[in-house]
Amino acid sequence: LLRIINLKKRFGDKEVLKGVSFEVMEGETKVIIGPSGTGKSTLLACINQLVNPDDGEIWLKDELITQAKDINKIRQRIGFVFQDFGLFNHLTALRNVMIGLTKVKKMDKDLAREKALEQLRKVGLEREANLYPAQLSGGQKQRVGIARALAMEPEIILFDEPTSALDPELIGEVLRVMKDLAESGMTMLVVTHEMGFARSVSDEIIFMENGYIVEQGSPEKLFKNPENERTRQFLNKLS
Ligand code: ATP
Ligand code: MG
Repeated sequence: LLRIINLKKRFGDKEVLKGVSFEVMEGETKVIIGPSGTGKSTLLACINQLVNPDDGEIWLKDELITQAKDINKIRQRIGFVFQDFGLFNHLTALRNVMIGLTKVKKMDKDLAREKALEQLRKVGLEREANLYPAQLSGGQKQRVGIARALAMEPEIILFDEPTSALDPELIGEVLRVMKDLAESGMTMLVVTHEMGFARSVSDEIIFMENGYIVEQGSPEKLFKNPENERTRQFLNKLS
């Protein structure tokens, strides 16, 4: 569904992505792990067309999106869940989920409300629909963020460290929603430091370091028997 070929990006004289290639199949959950400053967020930003890569190709199904003319059309097909939730503070949870439907998809308000409520129900927040972000916990805010992405019916959802801004006791509820999503067949690409999630939910893990993919493989293989010494060191440091 998503194919990245030899992607390169530099900021000034710093080469952040040095030729990254991988694929995400339909229905698959892929997790990207790796040290800070490795280019993980830059990679997601390139996929979501927030950053222009210098070289390489990104394919979404049979469309070369690195050359797409209508960026907004592409963005509608790719959901994004941010580390800091990215909600509008002056809008209720419901309105936050509705806004893409009414503004971008030009959906009728009543239908948008219905669709938004359905997504809030999916993440367990139907009763909080009329609360503002300031009245929600971090975990609830992030579940609104996920509902908002889902409402647009994207073909794939990208998550950039969706739980790293959360207090430890709130991480579980967000990971549970993500696990349900993965099991429902949603295609997901997740940057995370949550190794439990990576291990139990992902179909494949990509270990990135220094702008390169060092190793990728099934969670069993990567955790039990990593081929690369760098992967081994990174995982050892965490446990
Ligand atoms: P983390 O785990 O801390 O989120 P990361 O793997 O997501 O790290 P990136 O955010 O992709 O790393 O950043 C990779 C490098 O690119 C960093 O050195 C960062 O300072 C640099 N960088 C990222 N965005 C920009 C930008 N817009 N302009 C200049 N440098 C940038
Ligand atoms: Mg990052």
